[in-house]
Amino acid sequence: PLDFAGKIAQKLGSNIREEVVHAVDGVSLHVNKGEVVSLVGESGCGKSTLGRMVAGIMPPTSGEILYKGQNIASLTGEDAREVALKVQMIFQDPFASLNPRLRVRDIIGEAPLVHKLTTAAEQDDYLDDVMLRCGLDPSYKRRYPHQFSGGQRQRLGIARALAVQPDFIVCDEAVAALDVSIQAQILNLFIKLREDLDLTYLFISHDLGVVEHISDRIVIMYLGRVVESAPTEELFAKPNHPYTQALLREIPRLDARHADFTPIEGEIPSPLDPPQGCHFHPRCPFATDRCRQEVPQLKSVAPGHMSACHLNEG
Ligand code: SF4
Ligand code: MG
Repeated sequence: PLDFAGKIAQKLGSNIREEVVHAVDGVSLHVNKGEVVSLVGESGCGKSTLGRMVAGIMPPTSGEILYKGQNIASLTGEDAREVALKVQMIFQDPFASLNPRLRVRDIIGEAPLVHKLTTAAEQDDYLDDVMLRCGLDPSYKRRYPHQFSGGQRQRLGIARALAVQPDFIVCDEAVAALDVSIQAQILNLFIKLREDLDLTYLFISHDLGVVEHISDRIVIMYLGRVVESAPTEELFAKPNHPYTQALLREIPRLDARHADFTPIEGEIPSPLDPPQGCHFHPRCPFATDRCRQEVPQLKSVAPGHMSACHLNEG
């Protein structure tokens, strides 16, 4: 059963050039219930914008976001409230914008009370359960955000999201700011929570290496477009799109598979003025005249594996 689906476009006004820019252009993405999908690309590719739209924080200017078959923009009242709780977003440092004078108890515990997921009498026990699930000592609830390390803060951010009993979580660079050893701990926590609570995730990351081990499927974005989508093992074993191939070569590895470290040539063009045709053509070693003129469409190259490159059309 399809849990989330969307075909969307997003325009962002720009005061630099006074023109409208497609941050995300004609992207179609679906996430099945229980699946872990990662959206990967360099900064400025539109993946955070897409994540915000999926999480309902930013409306698309055209197209729609479907959650369990319903267009979330058309929901009102109780239905809208339900989706706002069921779809949660976790950021790189969720506590960065929070009131430093509030204790953890108030930061995490207030929403479940307001939304009647617990009662005032049971709020403390409810909070203890959520914190334990996230590997946090419940006594921490009397502390303030600044009293925590980066890894603990991310656990608190996860606890805050889980406290409202979501079933779909969008994680935007949720481990990017953490040390490698802490990253692994938090990724393991995400995996455990998925098993315990039957969660569905959309991970957003600039780093293919980070999401390799947690993702069922990986979607690669470049300058506002999806260029490739495949099951994780297939993507790593048989990357189709030249951009994906270049990203894979950038992952530093100890094993020989991708040992030839070669950075992708050229700068990422401005999303304000993306190249005509295939957006990747100025950096692609295989570009032809056709690539400079014609936008390649996403086409199936193997079961469950889509890629948008003219090389596939012979
Ligand atoms: Fe390269 Fe052309 Fe394929 Fe784009 S369509 S990735 S420029 S070969
Ligand atoms: Mg971002």
